[in-house]
Amino acid sequence: MNFYTTILGSGAAIPTAARHCSGQAVNINGFRILLDCGENTQTQIRVFHQRLQAIKLICITHLHGDHFFGLPGLISSMHLCGRKEPLDIFAPTGIAQAMQTLIEISGCHIDFEICYHELSHTEGNPLIFENNLCRVYSFPLLHSVPTYGYLIEEKPRGKNPPRRYAYCTDTAYTENILPYIEQVNLLCLESTFNNEYAQIAAEKLHCTAAQAATLALKANAKQLLLTHISARFKEPEPLLAEATAIFPNTLIASDGAQIEVHY
Ligand SMILES: [Zn+2]
Ligand SMILES: [Zn+2]
Repeated sequence: MNFYTTILGSGAAIPTAARHCSGQAVNINGFRILLDCGENTQTQIRVFHQRLQAIKLICITHLHGDHFFGLPGLISSMHLCGRKEPLDIFAPTGIAQAMQTLIEISGCHIDFEICYHELSHTEGNPLIFENNLCRVYSFPLLHSVPTYGYLIEEKPRGKNPPRRYAYCTDTAYTENILPYIEQVNLLCLESTFNNEYAQIAAEKLHCTAAQAATLALKANAKQLLLTHISARFKEPEPLLAEATAIFPNTLIASDGAQIEVHY
């Protein structure tokens, strides 16, 4: 069974030529979930040959612009391309007001149903979505605005144990998330900074590469994927070196990369 994520944007805050803002398209045997939708995500969907209308579910981590400013444009394009299928959007409280305001003042008529599911829980990891292929859970992260990580779990088929993919950005170092990400097959964690910028990371409630690797180690994750890379890192080697010293099985996300969730 296919279970992989395509990186649409791996940068932090400001899009650059090398890294766009946050976005990933997850494919579980043909079912498509979009994780975050930073500016220009719809263009990245086309550049990396993802199918716009195949997206059934969108999970937004938080309402900082680099994680959802691409959503109005994406929805407008879905409409213009003739979408009739409903779309489910999970995001912190405020998403419905933001989107409905933009849609209304732009005079845009959306010809398909959008179901906004606003998250406000401050602990635990409730099941938020389920179909015949997967389950999706949300859990709170530690950031300057309400922020949620998402855990995508495939449903068991045959003798294979179900694989799990956890997507956690943006967040400061917090061991509160360990119960939710324990033993995941692939753990995507933000790594905006390295140790050199530990003070700024703490102030802005982001992680360093070493902190992300420590969480992966403590969670007993199988593989770590670093994303949300600050534009100050033209080359990712300092981040990778710092993380692999603690957790060797670490990758750094790059735009366009397709990363399989291994058993
Ligand atoms: Zn961000
Ligand atoms: Zn943020």
